[in-house]
Amino acid sequence: MTEQCIFIKKDGKRCGSYPVEGSSYCINHEPRMQEKKLEAVKSGGAATSYEKLGLALPEMIIRNPNDVVGAAVQTVNEVRAGQLPPKVASTIGYLLGIVLKAYEVANLDQRVELIESVLVERRMAIRKK
Ligand SMILES: [Zn+2]
Repeated sequence: MTEQCIFIKKDGKRCGSYPVEGSSYCINHEPRMQEKKLEAVKSGGAATSYEKLGLALPEMIIRNPNDVVGAAVQTVNEVRAGQLPPKVASTIGYLLGIVLKAYEVANLDQRVELIESVLVERRMAIRKK
């Protein structure tokens, strides 16, 4: 047992946090904790956020319905590659469904506005006759 966590970070520096009792690692770097974290990732239920899962997922940029399709495909691939717990993917799928629905509603609103403006024009044309 050492006085500092012996984990070497990405920048090459030693972690330096206080180690867990009976270990050379702090609570974040203790290998037994890493196993628990992995189990949580596999089950997808134990952890509640990406941060807790330690996932480094690329940002999803969604600007149109096609992007929603792309995001869904990306999610499928991440699940298949074991990068994303199925439970988290289910949540993403659900949220993507909401986004898609919002685009549908927005699209419908635009079409209704267009139809209304055409009707107004026709009424005005009829009055002029
Ligand atoms: Zn550490």
